[in-house]
Amino acid sequence: MTPPPVPTPQPDPADASGAGGPFDAVPALDGELCFDGATLEAASGDFGRMVRRSPAAVLKPGSADDVATMVRYCRERGVKVAGRGQGHSTNGQAQVPAGLVVDLGSLDAVEIRDNTAVVQGGVLWSTLVRATLPLGLTPPVFTDYLELSVGGTLSAGGLGGQIGHHGTQVDNVLELEVVTGEGELTTCSPTERPDLFRAALGGLGQCAIITRATLALVPAPRSVRLYTLTYPSVAALTAREAELIREGRFDYLVGQVMLTPDGWIHFIEAASYDATAADDARLTDGLGYTSVEAQEMEYFDFLDRIAPLVDMLRSNGEWQRPHPWYDSLLPASTVNEVVTETLAGLKSGSLGASAVVLLYPVLTTKCRTPLPVMPDEELAYLFSLLKTASPGADSAEEMVAANRAQYDTTVEAGGTWYPIGSVPLTTDDWVRHFGAFWPEFRAARHRYDPDGILTPGQRIF
Ligand SMILES: Cc1cc2nc3c(=O)[nH]c(=O)nc-3n(C[C@H](O)[C@H](O)[C@H](O)COP(=O)(O)OP(=O)(O)OC[C@H]3O[C@@H](n4cnc5c(N)ncnc54)[C@H](O)[C@@H]3O)c2cc1C
Repeated sequence: MTPPPVPTPQPDPADASGAGGPFDAVPALDGELCFDGATLEAASGDFGRMVRRSPAAVLKPGSADDVATMVRYCRERGVKVAGRGQGHSTNGQAQVPAGLVVDLGSLDAVEIRDNTAVVQGGVLWSTLVRATLPLGLTPPVFTDYLELSVGGTLSAGGLGGQIGHHGTQVDNVLELEVVTGEGELTTCSPTERPDLFRAALGGLGQCAIITRATLALVPAPRSVRLYTLTYPSVAALTAREAELIREGRFDYLVGQVMLTPDGWIHFIEAASYDATAADDARLTDGLGYTSVEAQEMEYFDFLDRIAPLVDMLRSNGEWQRPHPWYDSLLPASTVNEVVTETLAGLKSGSLGASAVVLLYPVLTTKCRTPLPVMPDEELAYLFSLLKTASPGADSAEEMVAANRAQYDTTVEAGGTWYPIGSVPLTTDDWVRHFGAFWPEFRAARHRYDPDGILTPGQRIF
């Protein structure tokens, strides 16, 4: 079960500078070490709104050296540390009870060099793409929501509709600058400290905090032609998705199932990046859909197209409610059975009022980094139940319990968990989750964070 919410301790005004606590001898920093109630409060929660743990201090670093200095300082005193991007994880992943949260938002510099972007860990994907587009360039892979930090999504993996061509976001990283759990500021890449590089990408902050990333860029389209194609069943949807991702007809491909008053509808969103040359008849020929709609969009608006939905969810309160999300990757051989049974087993309150159910294909052969862990088949599917504990729906606790049952079903079906959501896992679950990569991952943890101070919220070690 998710740990019960812990009330946020009220800071003692006499202790506002950390005096007398573990932070009473902090060396000079370029940035700021914060102890005020508002900053501690902001670092105590996350998008999940289920777990709350108050840190003792929040670092707003002025430089990567600040991060290294404070990790060394905390290590000497046995204080735990976690990086925090935008806090959009759902289960306390970026929280540290009585420890130090490093709020990377202040490390927000972007530099474009030839066909690469060199960005600090706190940069938002929306900021990055706004900087690359005037140069006719773009990162190749985006998450659905652009207001996430580069360090935050690179710590998870970063899945998006471009995966069939470019893999995950972590597949497009050329080099990282990180601070290890020993407080060493260092760089790593496929050729320099490759063990650290492999353990940091998708590594859930267990070995290092990412302070800078060098990312590949590709030519950006000006506008895209976006098709929405509906299908009568889960099996029809996944079969068409399989064909399309293997064939590479579209530059972008995702899918959803959605509950309407008339029952479940199943649809693909597929985009062609050359809108002016896009030939509707050729692109949709033979796709066996029930209905099709096409629209042309500016590239940025296409990437950012959930922004109006987010605005609506903020204004109707759903964004601020608990989000017990479940995200999994299912192998093609079992996807139809698991998804069909899962949907059939849902009750009216199982998902909440504004739920989104994602079901889209992933070519695992395009995903070259060891993490995030993929099913052992060439084709897999992201299956996400993005739940909200809305009024009248199941409680957040009930949804989390259902996530645990769904996790067991996923594992039995040869699937893996995409670890951004809310599933209570034991250490044994984590060992099984990392599978063949576990010995290498554990060795990297022992080597780069020997005292185990980094990112306790994941509860892996
Ligand atoms: C609306 C929405 C849409 C989303 N869509 C997608 C999607 O399409 N595809 C997808 O893959 N994911 C998606 N996600 C999930 C998202 O990618 C992850 O939750 C991501 O970790 C959030 O980034 P963040 O900056 O908020 O990180 P946080 O929530 O702040 O941190 C997440 C984890 O990463 C660690 N961390 C953060 N920054 C660093 C750093 N610099 N170095 C080391 N560790 C760090 C934290 O300690 C924590 O463990 C979505 C989330 C939301 C809320």
